[in-house]
Amino acid sequence: MSITKAILRVRERIENACARSGRSGEEVRLCAVSKFHGATAVEEAYNAGQRLFGESRVQEASGKFAGLKKTRPDIQVHLIGGLQRNKAKAAAGLFDCIQSVDRDALIDELGKLTQERGAGQAILLEMRTAEASKSGFPDADALCRAAEKALAYPELALSGLMTMAPFTNDEKAIRRAFRTLVTARNLLEARFPGRWRCLSMGMSNDFEIAIEEGATLVRIGTAIFGERDV
Ligand SMILES: *Cc1c(COP(=O)(O)O)cnc(C)c1O
Repeated sequence: MSITKAILRVRERIENACARSGRSGEEVRLCAVSKFHGATAVEEAYNAGQRLFGESRVQEASGKFAGLKKTRPDIQVHLIGGLQRNKAKAAAGLFDCIQSVDRDALIDELGKLTQERGAGQAILLEMRTAEASKSGFPDADALCRAAEKALAYPELALSGLMTMAPFTNDEKAIRRAFRTLVTARNLLEARFPGRWRCLSMGMSNDFEIAIEEGATLVRIGTAIFGERDV
């Protein structure tokens, strides 16, 4: 299937999942995860109307998107993979949103960097909602402390939460992970109102479940660009 057709098909599936759960299709943004695929693939997706992309590595994203952004100013790219401190500076200049903020030290690093640059930086806090996954704040308490820390930096625009469900066929376990994120969001919204619009959850194998559970942004790679050779 071509990338153009795959995007249409994914959008249709998003619409259907929204309709099933009484939501409007406009509530859910599609982030096309282009990691390990080249600029040509991104261009094809762009020409099919796709504007938001996700990448998991700073260097790879920089090579691909620095050029693309010059000629297509409305293209957006989010970081969805783990960020090392020594790459934070490059990341802050490149990504429209860093979704994978998963520890306090990184908040401090990004907070200071953005203050020096005097430019805003949207971030999401990543939550570990499944035993098996490695990254993310472990619970709502840790998220509350992280939110407090992030809000102390005026240039950091805290916009919501991100998670990865366990990689499994067990639908109940997947739903449980997404519900854990929604519960944390509700708690945080009560404490720090107006900062949690974005709920980034759902990938190629589980995005319809994520939409049923309240996702506002789904990150989809394989179902759009095909298998990656890694
Ligand atoms: C790779 C990746 C995705 C996309 O995964 P697919 O299964 O290819 O849709 C989504 N989110 C994160 C954090 C990823 O690393």
